Amino acid sequence: LSTDGMGTVMGVMNKLYDVFNRLKLDGKGINLPQIVVCGSQSAGKTSILESIAGEEFLPRGTGIQTRCPIVLQLVHTKGNSKWMEFGHDPERKYEDWNEVKSMIEELTMDIERRGEVVTRRPITMKIYSPEVVDLTLVDLPGLVENCVDGQPEDLVEKIQELVLKYIQNPNSIILAVTAATTDIADSKCIRMAREVDPDGVRTLGVLTKLDLMDQGTTASEVLEGKKIKLKLGIVGVVNRSFSDTQKGKSVSDGLEKERKFLAKHYPKICSEHGTSTLINKTSSLLLNKITKSLPSVKARVEELIFTSTKRIQELGGDIQAVDKQRTFIHHIDRFNKSYCGEVDGRRRDVSTTK
Ligand code: GDP
Repeated sequence: LSTDGMGTVMGVMNKLYDVFNRLKLDGKGINLPQIVVCGSQSAGKTSILESIAGEEFLPRGTGIQTRCPIVLQLVHTKGNSKWMEFGHDPERKYEDWNEVKSMIEELTMDIERRGEVVTRRPITMKIYSPEVVDLTLVDLPGLVENCVDGQPEDLVEKIQELVLKYIQNPNSIILAVTAATTDIADSKCIRMAREVDPDGVRTLGVLTKLDLMDQGTTASEVLEGKKIKLKLGIVGVVNRSFSDTQKGKSVSDGLEKERKFLAKHYPKICSEHGTSTLINKTSSLLLNKITKSLPSVKARVEELIFTSTKRIQELGGDIQAVDKQRTFIHHIDRFNKSYCGEVDGRRRDVSTTK
């Protein structure tokens, strides 16, 4: 595999995501392999995505809750520059991450203005950077137990439906994010993941906030799979805290803090945890999934091409050529006239025509 953006397997997948998204092929039985990040609100999903992407670009602390999936494509580049573009406006390159945040806030507010509670239509964005590995992740709105004043009453169910739709895709790898400060046995996302993936072959657990556990307690049992069994395992991470971000600590400062924390508190298992392990595990799981599922995706696309071509022929065939366009317009014209009660230049009385 080359490391050049579009030359990799992920590069090809990214092109497929773009095309499928543009054609709105949602619901046509094509399940593209993808990493889906789900978890309760405040579990640390945003922080994980930013650690993986190496940049702070998602709005937080604004009171705005994500109301749609965010498809984040990371594209490894060879130069020094980093930039970002949105799927809805690929011509515009963003180098200022604050502008990216504002744009996401703007797009989120648009959803509210349209009166939608949550929407399946994702915001798609690409980050080009020499510091990322080729990877595509879908961030889903955080699961909530109750809605607070001012929020739509059906928010809880609508978010749950959306999460279920994404994790049901048999080609998705589920990153089930739970905070170590809560009981993992009660984790809603793990419960939902179990429903759609009872054998646990595509669910990877992520345990955040190891640093916020009560003094004297440890997450060793959970991380070693003694409390809850997930075949793909559970990776422990330490993200930047609220005060770290307030003080302007960068993502790379956060990664350094995580490394030191794991080495000090979990010396025996530290090499199996942390953000870098999470990135390696996630990208190899995704590549594996892509390799296995591409033949069935290809077969489904061919099936769709076949039925669409047949339908085009039933409707009068390909109308690219000018003479075919004339014939097509003639058919429409004849249809209009008969519909309006006029055939071959003679007017029919519609009211008496059966
Ligand atoms: P999301 O709602 O799941 O996207 O959660 P966020 O990533 O926005 O995290 C919610 C809050 O918890 C933020 O203030 C984060 O800085 C903080 N946080 C997330 N992960 C950790 C962690 O591992 N350790 C600490 N100390 N704080 C964290």
